[in-house]
Amino acid sequence: MMEKGTISIHTENIFPIIKKFLYSDHEIFLRELVSNAVDATQKLKRMSSLGEYKEEMGDLTIEVSFDKDKKTITVSDRGIGMTAEEIKKYINQIAFSGATEFVEKFKDKGDAKDIIGKFGLGFYSAFMVAKQVEIISKSREKGTEAARWVCDGSTEFEIGPAEKEDRGTDIILHIADDSEEFLDEWRLKGILDKYCKFLPVPIKFGKETEQVEDGKDEEGKPKYKSVEKDRIINDTDPLWTKTPADLTDEDYLKFYKELYPMSEDPLFWIHLNVDYPFNLTGILYFPKVKNDFEVQKNKIQLYSRQVFITDEVKDVVPEFLMLLHGVIDSPDIPLNVSRSYLQSDSNVKKINSHITKKVADKLGELFKKDRASFESKWDDVGIFVKYGMISEEKFYEKAKDFGLFKNTEGKFFTFDEYKEHISANQTDKDGNAIYLYTTDPGKQDAYIQSAKNKGYDVLLMDGVIDSHVINFLEQKLEKTQLKRVDADTVDKLIDKDEKIESVLSEKEEEKVKEIFEKAIDNKNMTIKVESLSPDEMPVTITMSEFMRRMKDMAKTGGGGYAMMGNMPDQFDVTVNANHAVISKILKAKKEEKKAQLAKQSYDLAMLSQNMLSGADLTNFIRRSVELSAE
Ligand code: ADP
Ligand code: MG
Repeated sequence: MMEKGTISIHTENIFPIIKKFLYSDHEIFLRELVSNAVDATQKLKRMSSLGEYKEEMGDLTIEVSFDKDKKTITVSDRGIGMTAEEIKKYINQIAFSGATEFVEKFKDKGDAKDIIGKFGLGFYSAFMVAKQVEIISKSREKGTEAARWVCDGSTEFEIGPAEKEDRGTDIILHIADDSEEFLDEWRLKGILDKYCKFLPVPIKFGKETEQVEDGKDEEGKPKYKSVEKDRIINDTDPLWTKTPADLTDEDYLKFYKELYPMSEDPLFWIHLNVDYPFNLTGILYFPKVKNDFEVQKNKIQLYSRQVFITDEVKDVVPEFLMLLHGVIDSPDIPLNVSRSYLQSDSNVKKINSHITKKVADKLGELFKKDRASFESKWDDVGIFVKYGMISEEKFYEKAKDFGLFKNTEGKFFTFDEYKEHISANQTDKDGNAIYLYTTDPGKQDAYIQSAKNKGYDVLLMDGVIDSHVINFLEQKLEKTQLKRVDADTVDKLIDKDEKIESVLSEKEEEKVKEIFEKAIDNKNMTIKVESLSPDEMPVTITMSEFMRRMKDMAKTGGGGYAMMGNMPDQFDVTVNANHAVISKILKAKKEEKKAQLAKQSYDLAMLSQNMLSGADLTNFIRRSVELSAE
């Protein structure tokens, strides 16, 4: 017999739950209390500007202080303040109704992170570090009495009148024994720097010394003295909150240094400014990434109304832009950013696709406005564009108009321009455009030169991501194939069905093949005799595009290809029937001589593929010396 019932959870249980779930993030209590102080100050300013508050507002600076002996941390503001009634309403009731909601959700869904996110890390997060919390507040309302509220983290509280001259609120935390680490100037300064650096109301914490002019000495030179003054820890108007039209390049560079003091200047930046359908501001900087793996440590920072939330921006920022730097600020991102929460949030998805669109638009704009400068930054920017094209269809749709190919001569082409550029000379007999590329212009130089002699263009594809780009573009571009320059002999790379007559008879070709097979004697080398143009090399060693891509995929651990990783490399050795050296080999009287000459031309081909080493190289050099002495 099944029994149904309701799980009853008492409010006394809430504090242990809060403590437990927020365990790893205790330091955020300060963010929450300072944000509340900022909210109270902003509310007062709004009331004042609406004429609802008619007194002088005075100095609105928020103060954070601590007392090591008394074991207290205090956050004081000069905001709207609370009457005893308001404390009861906002601190007691609201929080507890929030807690009831928390319990409701907890029993249905069982996803704790989700619930904590909705519950909010508000005022009660103070109990993560405090054994007792005091509120001393005086309302903005004239003639109201100041109030004092004390609570030790249970559901019991005391409230009564207090002595307080000024309008505003002091939150006094009596720090628990296990949280005394927070009674430390640098620890607190560190937390404030992390979370509160760009809050919109000045926050003072401790003192700093400054050198100020203090009259002149006998020679008339200015004298200086050290003066202690309040240390303000925040920049109340960070750059991203300003209007882009009012800002100069210097402003953006200066702000970048403020965010990442030790870093090299970025290439350019995008100022995001959206108010519909969601609210989002921010500045994204494109760093120089070429060969710089250090670059990752400067992460994009996520803010909500100028309060720092996290630098784990996964899901908010598309993956291919994770290497960017800068800040994003959106009140529409739920405050407690936990991954499972974000993924299910539709705003997060919208923000993500908006950022993708904005970045694509900005890149397109830079390309149109100043192509030369865009090209000069391509080596750095290209990585983002290529990664973006592969990973996001929507980005590709825009990027295909500004994505660039770079050839071995350092010239840049858009995809359309390139098609146009090569179509006359690089279309094969089936009407396919064949794009030739090199992954290493140094090593593949001989092949590049052969291709150039034929009037072919060769693309530079030497980036880490380029092998993926090649596969991707073959799927995207119609009737287009990409082949590495050394995938075949130059006459066969682009098969135009142009037959070159052979100077050798069929029988002679058979003989040539035999000589080479004997001389080379390696079953990983497939020998064929073909009639190429006489000015091509006598012997060429190639690996077919198909074969090489399979090998590459095996190397990067691609699924079903793994077994190929253990197979020896298979090469094609093409002997050029029309080359004078081959005729000479046939005409040689002695078999030994035939073998020697065959081996020599084979070794030359090996050498140009960087495949000659060890004893083979030594033998080749010795043989070359002998041959030149003859
Ligand atoms: P939230 O800030 O999300 O509303 P909190 O738990 O942080 O939730 O705070 C609860 C309420 O207590 C606030 O909405 C506000 O009305 C009141 N409050 C908290 N701190 C202050 C303060 N320093 N000055 C005035 N009111 C405050
Ligand atoms: Mg709050």
